[in-house]
Amino acid sequence: MSKELLAKLEQQGSLQQQEFLLLLQGRTTALAKYAAERARALREQVFGRGIYLRGLIEFSSYCHNDCYYCGLRRSNAAAQRYRLTPEQILACCRQGHLLGFRTFVLQSGDDSYWSDERLVPLVKAIKSECPDSAVTLSVGERNFASYQALRAAGTDRYLLRHETANPEHYRRLHPVAMSWQYRQQCLLDLRTLGYQVGAGFMVGSPGQTLSHLAEDLLFLSKFRPEMVGIGPFMPQHDTPFACEPVGSVELTLFLLSLLRLMIPNLLLPATTALGSLHPRGREMGICAGANVVMPNLSPEDVREKYQIYDHKLSVGAESATGLADLQRRLEEINCFVASGRGDFDPALLAVLQPQK
Ligand code: SAM
Repeated sequence: MSKELLAKLEQQGSLQQQEFLLLLQGRTTALAKYAAERARALREQVFGRGIYLRGLIEFSSYCHNDCYYCGLRRSNAAAQRYRLTPEQILACCRQGHLLGFRTFVLQSGDDSYWSDERLVPLVKAIKSECPDSAVTLSVGERNFASYQALRAAGTDRYLLRHETANPEHYRRLHPVAMSWQYRQQCLLDLRTLGYQVGAGFMVGSPGQTLSHLAEDLLFLSKFRPEMVGIGPFMPQHDTPFACEPVGSVELTLFLLSLLRLMIPNLLLPATTALGSLHPRGREMGICAGANVVMPNLSPEDVREKYQIYDHKLSVGAESATGLADLQRRLEEINCFVASGRGDFDPALLAVLQPQK
């Protein structure tokens, strides 16, 4: 029954919510292995064996939000706060560009200091120094005019995890000042403005049930984002969720496989959280169907300070040695570093059309 549901998901790109739930409830080691094999085959058919790299620059640890799960939350007085200067951020991009990176992901807490007046010139400067590179922003909830200004400045992609498709579960994770509806609206605005949009969620966040995950899958099958970021929930010791259990690696891997079957040309990272939980976590993510890795390009002295959760992996590929290590790891699983920006490409699906 579950294998039939996997086949249906692959053929139709979606399932009913109840069917997603049945798949999640029916997960066994054997089913997950089979799903990963199908997902890997599909990824290879669409993308070949190339894995895209994104250089992650965590440029501010300030945040005015107070999400219960995140170490950067405003109420965490123990958090170490920093902001990189535009020059420092540009230097990270320059260094990454020399190493071959063609996408820079600028991520921060929801930091009001980074107004449009500051971010727009920064995006323009990166685009002018590295015109062959894509810029991805992951700077949280903003208004339509701000997203419009950042898009006009040259931003190509935007990562904003929906966090959960269920409004009650959203309330369990966020204070009343934050709104599920607003976050959903942000995703719609980003889509309207022509960004390549990334949604996503944590796996095993407090209060999350398999029914919630079925809702997440249904939401993603309808919204059809260009990118999806998922990773296990990891507790941070200075948050209200300090004592909550860590999310499951196995369930995360299964979900990665389902996402690949659902959207074959999806840009799907094997996230840092996966790499933080298991020494081979990122490779396992790729073997389950992911096709993107995001090594850290931030200056080494700030990496420890961007502590969204405990035990966060901070090794990157900012040096030739780091990059060579990553290349070797990818070769071990029969993959290689793909060159270029690695944009979302609807035309890639042509390989899946039956030959006339
Ligand atoms: N401020 C931006 C935003 O909210 O979209 C981007 C930065 S935020 C730290 C990036 C993502 O980290 C969140 O969307 C959340 O899913 C993830 N995250 C935060 N705390 C986490 C935790 N304890 N475990 C795993 N992931 C976490």
